This record gives sequence, C-alpha cells and structure tokens, in this order.
Amino acid sequence: MPSVWIDYDRCDGCGLCAKKCPYDAVEMRDGIPHILEQCTCCALCLEACKRGALQTDLTARTVPDFSAWKGVWVFAEHQQNALQAISLELLGKARELAEQRSETVSALLLGDQGDPLVQPLFTAGAHRVYQVQDPRLRHYTTDAYTKSLARLVEKYKPEILLIGATDIGRDLAPRLARRVGAGLTADCTELSIDPEEGILLQTRPAFGGNVMATIVNRFSRPQMATVRPGVMEKRAPEPLQGELVAEQLEGGDQDSRVEILESWTEEGERIDLSKARVIVAAGRGAASSEGLELLEQLARSLGGELAGTRAMIEEQWLPDDRQIGQTGQTVRPELYIGCGVSGAVQHRAGMAASRYIIAVNKDPRAPLLSVADWSIVGDLFQVVPELISILSRRI
Ligand SMILES: Cc1cc2nc3c(=O)[nH]c(=O)nc-3n(C[C@H](O)[C@H](O)[C@H](O)COP(=O)(O)OP(=O)(O)OC[C@H]3O[C@@H](n4cnc5c(N)ncnc54)[C@H](O)[C@@H]3O)c2cc1C
Repeated sequence: MPSVWIDYDRCDGCGLCAKKCPYDAVEMRDGIPHILEQCTCCALCLEACKRGALQTDLTARTVPDFSAWKGVWVFAEHQQNALQAISLELLGKARELAEQRSETVSALLLGDQGDPLVQPLFTAGAHRVYQVQDPRLRHYTTDAYTKSLARLVEKYKPEILLIGATDIGRDLAPRLARRVGAGLTADCTELSIDPEEGILLQTRPAFGGNVMATIVNRFSRPQMATVRPGVMEKRAPEPLQGELVAEQLEGGDQDSRVEILESWTEEGERIDLSKARVIVAAGRGAASSEGLELLEQLARSLGGELAGTRAMIEEQWLPDDRQIGQTGQTVRPELYIGCGVSGAVQHRAGMAASRYIIAVNKDPRAPLLSVADWSIVGDLFQVVPELISILSRRI
C-alpha cells in the first residue's frame, strides 16, 4: 500500500497541502502538517507543495500502448425484427466521434433475424456490420451475448464501444465491461473526443443531477459508455453501403445459464414517449381527476401524449411508463407543455432538449420557467381551459 509522508526539514508550514487535500487528510497542528489516516494517496498535496516536502512511494501509472485499438462500435439492439431507435441514435454519434479520430464505425448485430436489419445500420452511419447469425441468439440472454461480444472485442479491438441504456443494455454493458477488463460510464448525456489526448470524454449527471461529471478512461480499452434513448440525435439517413462481416459462434459462446421458454408481447404496450412530437406533462399542481382530465384534453387537441413528473407516478396519478426525467424517459418533442411542474433538476434532465418548452405555473420562481421558451404564470385550472378553447376555435 503506497503512502505519503512529510520531510519536516523541507516543510515551512505554509499549509498549502492542507488546503489542497479534498479529503481533509492533512491537519495543521501548531503550524506543522500531519497526514491523517483518511489519506487516499491521491497525491494532490504533492503538487501543492512548493518545497518538495511531501513525498510518496507511489509510482505514476503508465498508459499502455493502445495503438492496435481502433474504431467506434455500436451494439445494435433490436426487438421483434426491428432495430431500436437508440441504436440508430448511437450510430449518428459514433460517426461524429469516428470522424474526429479519422476512424470507422461498426455495428454489432447478434440474433437470427436474417439480413433485413443490416442495410438500415449502413444507412444510419455504420461503415461495417459484424453479424453473428444463430438461432441460439434469437432471444437476448446475458451469458451468450456477453461471451459472443467479448470474443469480438478481443479479436477486433475497438477503441470505443457504445451501448443503449435500455433494459438490455443496462444488463449487458457492465457484464461485458467486466469480462473485457474495461471501465464503463453509464447513462451518458454527452460524448466527445478530447482534442489533445484523443480519448473519449463521457459526460453524465452526478450527485442527483446537480453536477455534470466528465469521465475519461486512460488505462483500458475499449472506452465503454451507455446512453439513454432519446438523448442523442439520429443522423439524417443516407443511402450508404458498407462491409458485412459474418462471424460465427465459437467454443461455448452460446452456453447460457438462462433458457428462454416462451416470450410474448405485453398487452397494452408501454408507451414510448421518445417518439411523441407533443407532450403535455402533468406535475403535482395538476394532481386531481379534474386536473388530469384537462391536461389529457389539451394533449388530445394537440395530437400529443400525456406524461408526468415522478411525483405524479409515485402518487399513482399516472402509470410509470409516463414518467419523464432522470429515472424516467428522456424526451425530445417539438413541443413540451409542463403544467403544475416545478422543474426539478431530475425532471429537466429528461426534457430539456425539447424544441419548444411552455411552462404553466402559478409560481413565477418555479425552475421550469428558467428553461421555458414561453411561461404562463397562473392557475392551470384557468389557463388550460383557455388554451383548449383557443385550440378548438382554430381547428
Ligand atoms: C434520485 C432522484 C431521481 C428523480 N428522478 C425524477 C424523474 O425522473 N422525474 C421527475 O419528474 N422527478 C424526479 N425526481 C423528483 C424531483 O426531485 C421532484 O421532486 C419532482 O420532479 C417534483 O415533481 P412536481 O414538479 O410534480 O412537484 P412539485 O415540485 O411539488 O411542484 C408542483 C408545482 O406545481 C405548481 N402548482 C401548484 N398548483 C398549481 C396550479 N393550480 N396551477 C399552476 N401551477 C401549480 C407549484 O407552484 C409547483 O411549482 C427525482 C428525485 C430524486 C432524488
């Protein structure tokens, strides 16, 4: 275990080390610094000391040679023979990242759905598709998909691997990262390339959404990130052609501790709010049958969907598939109207990318108003009937 110590002959008691320590692990006693047991050996105090009085036996980690790791990969998720929108969104972002690295984009397609899904991947931005076609991969299982993908990663060595933060992606990505010995940043909201180091900058909300943290991975490959549906924009489709690389299951790739006996689609499918062009969001200010009826009517008259804040889901005014926000869905409609929604940071995390935002709130200081294009300060029970009446006259 490395340690940090003080050469008291050099120390002038300036206290810079104590000020710099983020863990309060350097304590000044009678003008002399002392290292406390909560020291993590982060070595920030060494950088702060102008006299070289802080010393350590910690050796600097060297960055391995990753020159063989190239290209940006996207896991192409599909269900019932259709690609999930997130895969196409990620291909758009992958293309942008690959252009900055002068590299190519590859999609990974596992399953037994045949070729119809290949061309849409090229159209969405893939230069290459690695396809593993096998009936034993018809249904997603953690074991088989992890083993197959890990083998491809080890064989082709991608520099970056992006996966959707869907139910499947959230199951697959950490398992795969562990197996290939890479790090993983979950639920990124922004991805870019550091212009100096050429590494992936992975930005995501931290501490309940109060700060945005940018995470980098210098010491392992691939650099892996998951991204929630609706966060990245799809590229405009282009009639592109690419290379199809057929891969086989090998060894025990298909072995899984899980056997899928039957699968079926749930009655009354869950709503995918990311596809809605207009969303009327209900907040606690609308928490009554009358309030919800009004907002549903408003949504209907605009051809939109009714959604809500977590407060409305927790109080069972709306089903959980209608929640917008950090722990709900991410949406990017043309028009979002928040009625009786305060606009907590966790809610804004899921809707701030909407094209136009209207806030209806009786409190002029509600945070939603600060991100709204138009704000109506007033009681929604008066404002919304007015809006419905104006809309009905226009139609
Ligand atoms: C880890 C974590 C994750 C979370 N994830 C999410 C998430 O994904 N999505 C989410 O939404 N929240 C999330 N939350 C909860 C979030 O912090 C807020 O508590 C929640 O968004 C508040 O919901 P609200 O705006 O409906 O209610 P409130 O904050 O209570 O706001 C109600 C608003 O209605 C206004 N109002 C009241 N009556 C009227 C009226 N008659 N007319 C007009 N305006 C009126 C009030 O002025 C107020 O601004 C999360 C919290 C945590 C800690």
